[in-house]
Amino acid sequence: MHFVVCIKQVPEGTEVEIDEEKGVLKREGVESKLNVYDAYALEAAVALKEQYGGTVTVISMGPPQAMAVIREAYTLGADDGCLLSDRAFAGADTLATSYTLAEAIRRLPPVDLIFCGMQTTDGDTAQVGPGIAELLDLPHASYVTKIHELVGDSIIVDTDMGDGIETLKIKLPCLLTCTKEVNEPRLPSYRLKRATRDREITVWDSKALSGANAAYFGLSGSPTQVERIFPPPRGRDKEIWEGSPEELGRRFHDKLKELKFV
Ligand SMILES: Cc1cc2nc3c(=O)[nH]c(=O)nc-3n(C[C@H](O)[C@H](O)[C@H](O)COP(=O)(O)OP(=O)(O)OC[C@H]3O[C@@H](n4cnc5c(N)ncnc54)[C@H](O)[C@@H]3O)c2cc1C
Repeated sequence: MHFVVCIKQVPEGTEVEIDEEKGVLKREGVESKLNVYDAYALEAAVALKEQYGGTVTVISMGPPQAMAVIREAYTLGADDGCLLSDRAFAGADTLATSYTLAEAIRRLPPVDLIFCGMQTTDGDTAQVGPGIAELLDLPHASYVTKIHELVGDSIIVDTDMGDGIETLKIKLPCLLTCTKEVNEPRLPSYRLKRATRDREITVWDSKALSGANAAYFGLSGSPTQVERIFPPPRGRDKEIWEGSPEELGRRFHDKLKELKFV
């Protein structure tokens, strides 16, 4: 079986600075890491490979520095990696990102299962997985919480519907987006790190995707444009309460309830 996992390099931590003038995140000089949900997607693919046989290809769209997450994926059990990197891909919104990734996946050996994280920790839209599936005309399930088994030409999974869990049987090839409930990602393997140190990473630019419509790449292929980007104002509201420990405890509980934390 051929499993493909879409992985994205995202800024480390939550304190991301914003370039308000250009309307983009300041990525230069910011430590980067593998998007956390993509680690769960990768683990799901590697576990299925170990159970049923096959290969795992990871694919990422980003600048050359995104090779680091492909190298990391090699230490977590991925067999092949492909980086989509070209200035023409820059400034992509979620539609252009989905289009570029879908066009690349079309050019890989036939794929049985595509995995994505449920969302990223920077863009945070959760649109790219379903976007790829629609463009490839494949069935998909978002927010997968459990993978039961492969049965013939289908896979059985649980998905979080918000108000309950639904069990689905989906025909392959299909796309799944993974939550953190789906598994426990393994730690990087030192043995694999050594073994894959020189493993090739395929780099595809826009020319490698010949036949695709270049007008759908990057900024030109993005029907949405960021008009303004700014950090949300930090709330400095505070209340000072007085009373007995019991009263304060009750009041604290009521406040948490009011804020829907309990
Ligand atoms: C209107 C708009 C304009 C934007 N303009 C810019 C811009 O000018 N410059 C800029 O840097 N960013 C821009 N972005 C951000 C950029 O669109 C997103 O980084 C990208 O489309 C992915 O969306 P997301 O991060 O929300 O992914 P989600 O949909 O939350 O990601 C879900 C899953 O899709 C997969 N995935 C997502 N992105 C990638 C990727 N690149 N490679 C491989 N797999 C991936 C992963 O498996 C991920 O877990 C813009 C976003 C929007 C909405």
